[in-house]
Amino acid sequence: MKVLIAEDNLVSRRLLETFLRKWGYDIVITSNGREAWEVLQEPEAPNLVISDWMMPDMDGLELCRRIREMERAEYIYFIILTSKGKKEDVITGLEAGADDYLIKPFNQDELKYRVKIGERIIELERRILRLASTDSLTEVLNRRAFMERMEQEINRSFRENSPLSLILADIDHFKSVNDRHGHQVGDLVLQRFVSKLTESSRPYDFVGRYGGEEFVICLPGATGTESRTVAERMRKSVEEMKIMLPESSQSVRITASFGVVTLRLELEDSMDSLIGRADDAMYMAKREGRNRVCAAGEE
Ligand code: GH3
Ligand code: MG
Ligand code: MG
Ligand code: MG
Repeated sequence: MKVLIAEDNLVSRRLLETFLRKWGYDIVITSNGREAWEVLQEPEAPNLVISDWMMPDMDGLELCRRIREMERAEYIYFIILTSKGKKEDVITGLEAGADDYLIKPFNQDELKYRVKIGERIIELERRILRLASTDSLTEVLNRRAFMERMEQEINRSFRENSPLSLILADIDHFKSVNDRHGHQVGDLVLQRFVSKLTESSRPYDFVGRYGGEEFVICLPGATGTESRTVAERMRKSVEEMKIMLPESSQSVRITASFGVVTLRLELEDSMDSLIGRADDAMYMAKREGRNRVCAAGEE
């Protein structure tokens, strides 16, 4: 795990550097709050900060306040490590938003375990975020998380003038799978279906559960032609799949219908219209007999 150090005193900095390396952390070293603040603007910035209070340019308290005000997906755990040891100082530091406050000279083991507390908090937050964004049955993104991520990708497409496509996939006559074999088999079929979608997508694509047996695949950078090829690959691999039922010699086969749509860069296309057109294309595939790919809104 990465740890950011902000400390203007050379001796203290060296000491922290030595210990943290010994404990196995990747460290980024800065000598004041401003440098630390700049590091935190970068992608993949550390999530844990050990900061001195008194530093030139920007002090540790100001750094902490700014961090608490910034918009960032992940939490930053902030430890103040300072020689200011009065009760009022500790209160001021915690009031500024610090998670922990240690007084110099520090005890090596105490710092080690306090950093570990921070690591646990960060790990817990990651786990919660993962749970909140994942569909528990199929382990792909849930609808909300998918939409959030797609919104970002759409914005990026407009910024970089690069294509983006969306595939909407709906299992054909899925109700009859449930009716014939029961809900548990239905669940298994959903999982196997998703694994086919995932296997057929490219590394930058991401899959989400849009609703019951409807899934969406966002393909950043893919043109209409490319995304139709991907959808056709998915359709074929689903059609060829034989799902063996547990504790039985029976198997289930399914097919699915796919709607493919590409973002219209020149029209300031929105996510809603993109999904609407993908839905129309998917229903066209249903009307035309299912087990097929239909494309809408060619660019
Ligand atoms: P079509 O070819 O027109 O798409 O027909 P369909 O039967 O697939 O469509 P319909 O929308 O009528 O039925 C979808 C079914 O999906 C109904 C619902 O019970 C089932 N379903 C939705 N979510 C789940 C789930 O999590 N597990 C299981 N087993 N079934 C689900
Ligand atoms: Mg200092
Ligand atoms: Mg269906
Ligand atoms: Mg459906």
